[in-house]
Amino acid sequence: MLRKIEIEEHVQDDQVEVKEKIESALCTLQELRGRIAELKRKCEELRRMESQRPETMAVDATRCDKCGHPVDTEDQVVVRDSNGEERRHYHNKCFQTLLK
Ligand SMILES: [Zn+2]
Repeated sequence: MLRKIEIEEHVQDDQVEVKEKIESALCTLQELRGRIAELKRKCEELRRMESQRPETMAVDATRCDKCGHPVDTEDQVVVRDSNGEERRHYHNKCFQTLLK
């Protein structure tokens, strides 16, 4: 009888241990999910900043899409999309190298 009780207790201990392990694993999982959510949020933020950057750059000066230097209006080649929106600006000579 005594031996049986010991075994039962032992089994219970094992179950508690397994349960604790599962709980700690779930806890870790929850933590990782939280981190992933945070990373996703940061990623979205970066993407938003990235998409806004060309606009803020355009306010400063029009820059050449080939070499990245500012372009003078007289020296620039503007590439428009089908809607007539200005998409790219190049120095005359930079544009020539693109055509080659
Ligand atoms: Zn250029």
